[in-house]
Amino acid sequence: METIQFENIGQLVTLAPLAAEHRTTKIEYIDLGIVENAWLRIHEGRVHSYGEMAHCPYAEETRDLGGALVLPGFVDAHTHPIFAGNRSPEFIQRLAGMSYEAIAEQGGGIRSTMGATRGSSQLELEALTLCRLQAFLRWGTTTVEVKTGYGLSVESELLQLEALQAVKEKTPQAIRVTCLALHACPPEFSSPDAYAIALKDELLPLVAQHNLADYVDVFLERGYFSDSVAVNAFMGEARMLGLGIRVHADEFSDAGGARAAARWQAASADHLQHASQEGISAMAQAGVTAILLPGTSLYTNIPFADARPFVEAACAVAIASDYNPGSCRIYNLPLLATLAGVHCHLSLPQVLAGITYVPSVSLDLGTQKGALACGFDGDFAVYNTVSTVEQWLAACGMQGPDAVFIKGVRIV
Ligand SMILES: [Zn+2]
Repeated sequence: METIQFENIGQLVTLAPLAAEHRTTKIEYIDLGIVENAWLRIHEGRVHSYGEMAHCPYAEETRDLGGALVLPGFVDAHTHPIFAGNRSPEFIQRLAGMSYEAIAEQGGGIRSTMGATRGSSQLELEALTLCRLQAFLRWGTTTVEVKTGYGLSVESELLQLEALQAVKEKTPQAIRVTCLALHACPPEFSSPDAYAIALKDELLPLVAQHNLADYVDVFLERGYFSDSVAVNAFMGEARMLGLGIRVHADEFSDAGGARAAARWQAASADHLQHASQEGISAMAQAGVTAILLPGTSLYTNIPFADARPFVEAACAVAIASDYNPGSCRIYNLPLLATLAGVHCHLSLPQVLAGITYVPSVSLDLGTQKGALACGFDGDFAVYNTVSTVEQWLAACGMQGPDAVFIKGVRIV
C-alpha cells in the first residue's frame, strides 16, 4: 500500500494547530484543526494532505467513510498492563468495606500481583500483555506507555522489560516502556531506600546498556518511596544513563511528588490529587506534564484531581487510564475523557488534546503521534455512530470506534 485517500469524512479533527506550534499548554480556546466534509490522504503510512471535499483531488485508491467522525488515535501515557494473577476477590472485599491498607496487610495489593508475576514465564507475560493491548486498541488507543513494576526484583524487572521488547514487535501500537521497579518495597529488603540503592547499582546499568526502557518511574507516597537521598540518587543515575523520568505523585497525600518531579525535570507527574500550589508552579516552570487519572478515582472512590490549578499555572494536562490489576480496570480512554471533563473540570479542547497531542509530547513522540498533521503517522479512529466531536464527548465512550487505523492500515 502506497497511497490511500479517505473521502466523505463528516468531521476530521486534526489538532494540527497544536502540532505546528509543538504546544501543549494554554489550549483552552484554540482551534482543534477541524475540517468539515473532509478528505485525508495517507502516503506510506503518514498524513500526506487533507482538505474539504469541495476541493477533493483525484486519487487512484480511495475509501468512502460515509460522513464518519475521524479523530487522531488516542495516546495513553500511563498504564500497567504487564502482570499476572487476578485481584477480583480484593475488589469484592473492598465493596464489603475492607480498606486498601487492610487488604495489603493480608498479602493482597501489589504484593499479590508480585507473587503471580514472579511465577510467570516471559512468554506468559507477553501473551497477557498483548491481549490487554488488543483491548486498548478496540477503544481507539494507538500509542501506549507501558510500565513494569510487579516483579520487584532485578531478575523479574529484566524479564518484564525483555517481554516488552518482544511485545513491541508483535503489537501494531506504538509502545513506550517505563521501568517502574520502584513501585513498592519487596519483602527481601529492609527498607525502600535500601531497595532503591540496590536497583540503582544492579538494574539501571543493565536497562541502559541493553536499551530496555525509555523512562523510569517511582511511586512517591507515604508507606512506599519518599523524596529521599536514595531515591534522588536513583533518579540522578537514571538521568545520567539517558533515561527519562515519570513520577506517581501526590495521589493520597502531599508527599512532595510534584516538587520532586520538577526538580528531576521529569516528563510527567501523574495522579496529583494532593499536589501543593508550590509543586504545581514548579511543574509548570520545569515543563512537567500533569497526567490525571480519573479512572482510578472512579474505581476506588477517591477524590478526582482538579485540573484547574494546573491549567491556570500553564502546566500541560493529559488524561490517562492507569489501567492496572488493582485500582483501575478501565481501557476505555474516551470514557475517561468524558469523566475528566466532568470531574477534573476540563473543556472539550483540553480533554481532546489531553488524550492525543499532550500525552504524545510527554512521551517524546510530538512529531509523529497524537495529531493528524502533515507528516504525522496515519493513526486514527473512525466513528460512524457519532458525527461531531461534541457528540463523541457527550456519548461518554459508550460506543467504540467502528474502525481503527495505524499508519494508514486498518487494524480494527
Ligand atoms: Zn500507575
